[in-house]
Amino acid sequence: MTAHETDKYVYDFAEGNKDLKDLLGGKGANLAEMTNLGLPVPPGFTITTGACQAYLATGREPDGLAGQIEAHLEALERAMGRRLGDPHDPLLVSVRSGARFSMPGMMETVLNVGLNDRSVVGLSNQAGRNDRFAWDSYRRLIQMFGKTVCEVPGEEFEHALDEAKRVKGTHDDLDLDAGDLRGLVETYKKIFAKHTGREFPQEPREQLDLAIRAVFESWNAERAILYRRQERIPADLGTAVNVVAMVFGNLGPDSGTGVAFTRDPGSGAQGIYGDYLANAQGEDVVAGIRNTVPLQELERLDKTSYDQLLDIMARLEGHYQDLCDIEFTIERGKLWMLQTRVGKRTAAAAFVIAGQLVDEGLIDLDEALHRVNGAQLAQLMFPRFQLDHGIEAVATGIGASPGAASGAVVFTSARAVELAAEGKAVILVRRETNPDDLNGMIAAQGILTSRGGKTSHAAVVARGMGKTCVSGADEIEVNVPAKRFTVGGHTVAEGDVVSIDGTTGKVYLGEVPVTPSEVVQYFEGTLDPERTDDALVRAVHRIMTHADTRRRLAVRTNADTGADAARARRFGAEGIGLCRTEHMFLGDRRELVERLILAATDADRTDALAALLPLQRQDFVEIFREMAGLPVTVRLIDPPLHEFLPPLEQLAVNVAVAQERGEDVAKEEALLAAVRRMHEENPMLGLRGVRLGLVIPGLFAMQVRAIAEAAVAVTRDGGTACPEIMVPLVGAVQELETVRAEAEKIIAEVVGDSGVEVLIGTMIEVPRAALTAGQIAEAAQFFSFGTNDLTQMGWGFSRDDVEGAFFWRYLELGIFGISPFESIDRDGVGRLIRIAAEEGRAARPGLKLGVCGEHGGDPDSVHFFHEVGLDYVSCSPFRVPVARLEAGRAAIETTGSDSR
Ligand code: PEP
Ligand code: MG
Repeated sequence: MTAHETDKYVYDFAEGNKDLKDLLGGKGANLAEMTNLGLPVPPGFTITTGACQAYLATGREPDGLAGQIEAHLEALERAMGRRLGDPHDPLLVSVRSGARFSMPGMMETVLNVGLNDRSVVGLSNQAGRNDRFAWDSYRRLIQMFGKTVCEVPGEEFEHALDEAKRVKGTHDDLDLDAGDLRGLVETYKKIFAKHTGREFPQEPREQLDLAIRAVFESWNAERAILYRRQERIPADLGTAVNVVAMVFGNLGPDSGTGVAFTRDPGSGAQGIYGDYLANAQGEDVVAGIRNTVPLQELERLDKTSYDQLLDIMARLEGHYQDLCDIEFTIERGKLWMLQTRVGKRTAAAAFVIAGQLVDEGLIDLDEALHRVNGAQLAQLMFPRFQLDHGIEAVATGIGASPGAASGAVVFTSARAVELAAEGKAVILVRRETNPDDLNGMIAAQGILTSRGGKTSHAAVVARGMGKTCVSGADEIEVNVPAKRFTVGGHTVAEGDVVSIDGTTGKVYLGEVPVTPSEVVQYFEGTLDPERTDDALVRAVHRIMTHADTRRRLAVRTNADTGADAARARRFGAEGIGLCRTEHMFLGDRRELVERLILAATDADRTDALAALLPLQRQDFVEIFREMAGLPVTVRLIDPPLHEFLPPLEQLAVNVAVAQERGEDVAKEEALLAAVRRMHEENPMLGLRGVRLGLVIPGLFAMQVRAIAEAAVAVTRDGGTACPEIMVPLVGAVQELETVRAEAEKIIAEVVGDSGVEVLIGTMIEVPRAALTAGQIAEAAQFFSFGTNDLTQMGWGFSRDDVEGAFFWRYLELGIFGISPFESIDRDGVGRLIRIAAEEGRAARPGLKLGVCGEHGGDPDSVHFFHEVGLDYVSCSPFRVPVARLEAGRAAIETTGSDSR
């Protein structure tokens, strides 16, 4: 006996359970669970994902599989009292795919396996001499089997069906009688033979084996591969195959089929939501051949089944302790459960349902916190379209980058730039975008494409820019040369206004009004969670409050104005983790900065700095007041100084034109010379950060003095200020020591006996700093990880260029699953952070550690920062609530209190 023969590849439903999804797939595991709960599930068995993996690896069924299928089939036949394909009283089975993760419609299903020229008669007899039903079932088998198993083009069957209806003079399948369908079976068999070179297989077991093989192979169908890539489902999981005794919802008015949710998956509202279709099979519901009725109608049609269904749904909810969705069939008044799973839901429903389940005592608050996430919360914070005017979407694509955007349609990047320059809002519409469209994407309010998924160029670039994008709206026919697109009978020309919702993927004609989300109103403090009857706001409040009690990480914000600081505080920020000082050198202060840069003598420079000092001091006074005693990390100036001067080309042209006109250009010439002198090929790796402070005498000193004086002023006024001075771009401890020595002198002089305490620390954003953190910690009172630069320098990626240039290709190739600028690269950049945190704390126990790069507000990164033991994350004001929520989730996940 080989090792393979001992592997168990087939499980009866009675042998599995809901936790065996890796082995039995989602559908198989849940069918087993329902069977064991004693619910009415048609008998059947599941062939494991392991069998599929073995088949895909070797191109043949693993040893032992055929025998195990045989044994389970015999058991199924015994349970049903019928034999597969028996000419007199046939057992028929469905063969359905079911992977670990739901991949709706991506893989194959074959129904009615076991029918042939003889058993079709037996089926008719079994169904009370219902010939029409039997021949219809047979033609469906040939059609599905032909298409799925033997790759016969599906249209050929469709055409034959249309032709049969045309001959009959009808549009409705139901008007075809038994004779017509019998004729259609003959035609289908000819189509089958023409394409496969063989007759339609009459042997039931051969049908079954071929159908199982086809389901295995459908794992590698092109659309399934694409779907997995988009949803980040690993490619090697394989699918399980469920072989289930057929039950029929199309045996007459006392039969039918339906789908239902135990709560509204859109809003989370309690109640039964579902659709029912009498005298039909599941595929008819999906195909939309006839209109369904609300599930409540079933109460009138078949009260016994309805009551039983409600009872089962309540049991499933109690059992899974979550919203479930189900599929069922009623065969002549007998209810059968065909599927259940914990149902997908919108972001709003996720919060509302989690809150309800706590109220119902089914889960605790930790579990509620575990069941929502920061991405959902972020979605709930985007402005929404106000859709209460009966506005209908004309198309639905993929919500590739969230937000709500309206604007005039344009079809080229150039036109987008032109119209945007005139102050118009535009939506760039393309079949798909490519790197040449970048300018247009920057100019547009939103991007709409008819092709491409969540990782297409358009989607990735738009997300990087925080711009609304709907991709892959394939109902839209884009005609760029004609400057128009068509959709569902509408023609939209250049200049016409459309609205796109990057969360739902919906596309609307005309301008849809926008409203701020209730959740943001709540965070802003304008909507009181205790008084509103908005279930979502109440649930968000409750779960956020719990997250705050659970989290260990503090959450600060990146803010450099009093207004930003105030908003962030309302959103829950507990300090400022990064106040960038460079914006304070722009606007009407440019002139002073130019004086500083162009200073010919020490005295000129000292004058310029002296003029900047009171302005800077006032900036800090406002921020310290706003933060009222919370810590404020002020970073000394970082960017290269020429960023404060006009661009070289523009200056050169201005000087040339002025010279031509004979004007006095002495000042401009000096400026031009300075810009030329300071020009760098790689400014991000050039004279910036601490290097600047060491090269320009008095620059950092002025900033340190402004910070200390502001803190003293606020304290003298009865307030509290907790400044933390942060030095950027440090790579060696000596750099920090030099800056610190000068800063400490100034601080001591300014602070005197005011009681103000000023900390001095450093950013860790250069790989060398991370690797020598033990030395640097000797001179630093805190570290803050600048993960933007650390990612840039860790990977050698220019942070300003690469996301639009080639990341879409890297994502397509799977080199990374998500941009490392968006979510921390745990293996590489994350390792630098780990080393720095460990070695920094070893050198200086209790060293305060934070992060202030963009990753501070990214859900997955927040979990990483929790794991490595940072004290706080700092992020833009809008992401503060997301960071609070995820910090809470990270805390309960590491304490292991979650139950799923
Ligand atoms: C960083 O590099 O992560 C950082 C916060 O600084 P900046 O983005 O200003 O370079
Ligand atoms: Mg930086």
